[in-house]
Amino acid sequence: MIIAAERMSAFATDIFVAAGSAPEEARQIAEHLVEANLKGHDSHGVGMIPVYLLHKGMGAVVPNRSPKIAADLGALMVFDGDSGYGQPTANRVMDMVAERVPAHGVVVSSLRNVQHVGRIGAYGERLARKGFLSIHFVNAVYATPCVAPFRGSDPRLMTNPICIALPIGPDRPPVVLDFATSAIALGKVRVAMNKGVETPENTLIDHAGQPTRDPKALFVEPKGAIVPFGLHKGWGLALVAEMLGGLLTGGPTQAQPQKPAGLVNGLFSIVIDQNRLTRGSAYFDEVAGLIDYVKASPAARSDEPVLVPGEPERMTMAERGAEGLPIDDRTWREIVEAAKSVGVAAPQ
Ligand code: NAD
Repeated sequence: MIIAAERMSAFATDIFVAAGSAPEEARQIAEHLVEANLKGHDSHGVGMIPVYLLHKGMGAVVPNRSPKIAADLGALMVFDGDSGYGQPTANRVMDMVAERVPAHGVVVSSLRNVQHVGRIGAYGERLARKGFLSIHFVNAVYATPCVAPFRGSDPRLMTNPICIALPIGPDRPPVVLDFATSAIALGKVRVAMNKGVETPENTLIDHAGQPTRDPKALFVEPKGAIVPFGLHKGWGLALVAEMLGGLLTGGPTQAQPQKPAGLVNGLFSIVIDQNRLTRGSAYFDEVAGLIDYVKASPAARSDEPVLVPGEPERMTMAERGAEGLPIDDRTWREIVEAAKSVGVAAPQ
């Protein structure tokens, strides 16, 4: 199943409007999800629509909420998402932070009590378009965790993502490093199970803490877990993301026995007006030189050249923008069912 991004975006917008969102809120959620598909991160794309509607039905996410400023300390800002949809809430928070950055050079912000904010790179890119460098640590709180601590044998955290986005000049796309701190995304394990294939090596453990490549280990009792990426290093980052995204500014964490409903994110961000530090175009030229230098390393495989973070997403976007979004049958059926539940018919 291939669908043009614009048609999918219009369909998704109609679904969220029918589910009670104002048109602008619906548009922002739809646009974010479709862009995740366009950039190759299907785990954070339109396949989330049924989950979002489920969470809305549970009362976990409430349409048309606006973030509230919980603490305003100048260059430190704390926002409460008031259980709103993640994407419009985080967009609004990042815009408020961006307005404040020129006054201080740097603003540190925290957004708590917001439902799933999706692909974190979207916020890094939003800020990079305004010329700001940003660093984001995110925790996620859900009824059942999926990532084991390094050396542990049962899941304790979620896939806590980290993102660093760096503008590198008006004529060049930013460098966007944006990934989960788990060895594999949760959505990718589910896809492997549905396809009946093994997961890559060193991504999962079984209930006894032993390595396994069987994706069922994550969903069928006795359950195992995903391991953090990069051994103790990824584990450390996952834990720090839980502390910064959650605990530091009063948000929930995966440690509390009573989890909030739905999927709650906590977004800790450091946003820097890099023009205060850099030498303007001289810096951009130096970055370009650095990128040319690292990319000149001969490819170990001729069909796999050296890339910089953000490049794979742009390549996939060029392809999918032209050819349309591939959506697997099961995901499409689930989206159509979700649409039907709010009285929206699927496009032909
Ligand atoms: P991933 O493993 O695909 O890694 C993506 C990152 O690696 C990107 O920055 C990409 O540009 C870079 N990259 C990929 N190949 C590269 C190469 N050959 N050379 C240089 N850089 C390369 O990502 P993931 O861990 O599967 O995460 C996917 C998405 O899921 C992210 O956007 C993340 O924000 C999101 N996420 C969100 C939540 C949440 O709770 N909201 C939780 C987990 C993940």
